[in-house]
Amino acid sequence: MSELRELYQSTILDHNKKPRNFRSPQQANRRAVGHNPLCGDEITVYLQLQDDIVADVCFQGSGCAISTASASMMTQAVKGRPLEEALQLFDSFQRMVTGESGADAADAQPKQMGKLAAFAGVREYPMRVKCATLAWHTLRAAAIGGEAATTE
Ligand code: ZN
Repeated sequence: MSELRELYQSTILDHNKKPRNFRSPQQANRRAVGHNPLCGDEITVYLQLQDDIVADVCFQGSGCAISTASASMMTQAVKGRPLEEALQLFDSFQRMVTGESGADAADAQPKQMGKLAAFAGVREYPMRVKCATLAWHTLRAAAIGGEAATTE
């Protein structure tokens, strides 16, 4: 479990314990369900898009600490941003956790990534990459798929 302890930085632990924007949507015009069969993570992301701005975003579901914390931090990172910026952030995030753009991808863009840099260590644990990116993939599916939300 030592590898997981390294991953579970205080930011990640905090967001897993108290996920932000973990609620049913007040208003949502986009929705998508994301599933990570490798780990059993399953989340639904709800989006309220207004003039291509992420006016609101929230999620529900259950998963491991990494996927829950990542979903929580994703909602905080993209709320209020233009959708295009949110999707660019996803690209940066994905490059960071897969290490695609080199070992210091995270160090190269510390300001842009902000707290999301807490997930940089995930690149050492390929099994965890899908946990960390699940919420982002689901966000993109909701935004691009344009599936109408059914609010309870
Ligand atoms: Zn997981």
